[in-house]
Amino acid sequence: MELSTPVNELSRVGKTVAGRLKSLGILTVKDLLYFWPFRYDDFTQPTKIASAEAGDRANFVGTIEIISGKRTPGRRISVVEAIVSDETGSIKAVWFNQPYIATNLAVGDLVSLSGKVDEDFSGPFLSSPVYEKLTATGGIHTQGLVPNYHLTAGLTQKQLRYLVGQSLKNLPPIDDWLPDTVIKENNLMPMAEAIEQAHFPKDASALESARRRLAFDELLLIQLQARIIRRRTDSLQAAPIIFNEEATKKLVDNLPFVLTPSQKKAAWEILLDISKDKPMLRLLNGDVGSGKTVVALLPLYNAALNNRQAVLMAPTEILARQHYATITKLLQGTNVVIGLVTSAEKKINLSRNPSTSFGNAQGRSLRTGKQQTTCLRRQARNIISKSDKKLTGQQVIDQADIIIGTHALIIDKLDYRNLSLVVIDEQHRFGVRARQRLLDKAKSDGRGMIPHLLTMTATPIPRTLALALYDDLSLSVIGEMPAGRMPIITEIYGENDRSKVYEQLRAQINLGHQAFVICPLIDPSDNFGAKSAKEEYDRLKRDVFPDLPMGLMHGKLSAKAKESVMADFAANKTKILVATAVVEVGVDVPNATAMLIESSERFGLAQLHQYRGRIGRGGDQAFCWLIAEDLSENSKKRLNNLKKYQNGFDLAKADLEFRGPGEVYGIIQAGFPELKLASLFDYDLMKTAKAVAEKLINQDQSLEKWPAVRERITSLEDDSHLE
Ligand code: ADP
Ligand code: MG
Repeated sequence: MELSTPVNELSRVGKTVAGRLKSLGILTVKDLLYFWPFRYDDFTQPTKIASAEAGDRANFVGTIEIISGKRTPGRRISVVEAIVSDETGSIKAVWFNQPYIATNLAVGDLVSLSGKVDEDFSGPFLSSPVYEKLTATGGIHTQGLVPNYHLTAGLTQKQLRYLVGQSLKNLPPIDDWLPDTVIKENNLMPMAEAIEQAHFPKDASALESARRRLAFDELLLIQLQARIIRRRTDSLQAAPIIFNEEATKKLVDNLPFVLTPSQKKAAWEILLDISKDKPMLRLLNGDVGSGKTVVALLPLYNAALNNRQAVLMAPTEILARQHYATITKLLQGTNVVIGLVTSAEKKINLSRNPSTSFGNAQGRSLRTGKQQTTCLRRQARNIISKSDKKLTGQQVIDQADIIIGTHALIIDKLDYRNLSLVVIDEQHRFGVRARQRLLDKAKSDGRGMIPHLLTMTATPIPRTLALALYDDLSLSVIGEMPAGRMPIITEIYGENDRSKVYEQLRAQINLGHQAFVICPLIDPSDNFGAKSAKEEYDRLKRDVFPDLPMGLMHGKLSAKAKESVMADFAANKTKILVATAVVEVGVDVPNATAMLIESSERFGLAQLHQYRGRIGRGGDQAFCWLIAEDLSENSKKRLNNLKKYQNGFDLAKADLEFRGPGEVYGIIQAGFPELKLASLFDYDLMKTAKAVAEKLINQDQSLEKWPAVRERITSLEDDSHLE
């Protein structure tokens, strides 16, 4: 077995399982090992049976005294019952519809059971606990710190643990990509050990060392890549985009709102930067809803006015289409040609008066005399768009000044004319490789020029940290929200409050507003039964809001379906949009004032903040209702932070500081969009990574001396599977 061995060569992986693994992005043994747990169940200290109390989630170790299977009268449900005892007492365990357990386990077996303690007339009992027969070496499912993975339908935790365990056992030693000296000097855990400990930690401190090592790698790679890009771009030239003051002022005056001071400042910094012949490398940082799009619009527009091409890349089709609609609208009355390129859709807008409805952008070119000069060069090309023929990506690029799109912009073989500005929205959703590839595209004009680069992110990262993390990247910050935004009223509710929440939701709709209902993805592998968007949509439509037009949005819809669902919602044709995580980034429908989030205790605070950022974008009071199935004190306390804080940074911090007893957080810090493994608050580790990056690169600019490091950087796969 090698790291590159395809997973379908592992035992117990057939076609079906391989397909499910693939949907998690796991194709090889390496992918499997780099698929980190998000949480660990802490079974380091089993509960004594005598102290079992109804309502607990606990782990018990004991011997089976009695076990038997039967069927309920009418033979509808099979029930297996067992009595398990330890030195303090005995407890009953019950499983439904798993008759094979009666044959898998036998009297005398030492077992570990974990699950929820319920109560009936005869006292506490365990309801469908996860079970494992224990051997001398212990179990991997119910002993110690047990990994939990984010799974997909049809895969179980047990299966995944088994596969990871097998791979770790059969692999030859994994080489470390870091030089020995770096590992020793910085007291890092060697990679092979870190991988093993991340999955099956010996104890909490080994887990922390593993996490530190993996986080360090992430931070170091960000540093090295930033340095390499900076070095490459430093020696290159960019075409200056001259600031057209008159036209820009006119555009700004015609906006439906007044720019905030920090929007103006950020826009000014960018416009100044791109007017130079040195390529800009700038990060635009602003919390969700702070208005980054319109700031990006000004440099995009100026590029077009300079007769140059500019690109705006977004991580999802929904977002790309939305930007296309927004920018088309804001630039109507100018003669800038805007194009859209996603894998599903290619179009351009030549209309000066486009329909304002979402995504609808058919139209004709109408130009006045004054605008003739800039569009002359385009007249020959207009022929294509005048027919209704389906456009290719290349045709869009041939014709458009501002091209908006997804990954399709870099995946497809496309030639840009004179690409001078690249804007990347929600940059954390793209690998550094994607950025580099887009920059490289421009070189096809043969003059060794590269475009100016603006990346945008809502990661709530303070300036000092941003500078430590991104090295000498220039930084613009939108520090305040547009005027008139009211804090979103956030409430936490349990199952029993449902009807009250629906009443409030209906009240918002009666006022003419709209609402989101967010459901987590289904994860049938765990027994908490989270709500699925589809089922919830059906139920709400049937039982709760039969009179209201509703939409359903999830990642598996076709691009066309997504577009029409989104268009209906944006046009206020549907009042309620039931959706999965796809609405997390960027979606902008200012008339939506209400959001109900199901199973909210399953999300990180920063992630909930991202969802909540979808509402409260108009001037009206907005409401966010968090329904939690598990309203333990713990979840309540954690979720309360959303009532307390409206800003992403405070929430990110609270998320991290919050550690529920008995719950060990996984390698993945849910909710930190920018960083997968490291945390925003690993300040010391960031500094260490920065120092190491400096040293490696300064000693040897080409990394010739460190072939393993070089290989690691070049092999960094573009890790986003987004469209
Ligand atoms: P984000 O920073 O999350 O990308 P958007 O660019 O989507 O935010 O903007 C959020 C909403 O705020 C949009 O509806 C936009 O039209 C609006 N907006 C942006 N700037 C202002 C402003 N200065 N005043 C009022 N509304 C604004
Ligand atoms: Mg945005």
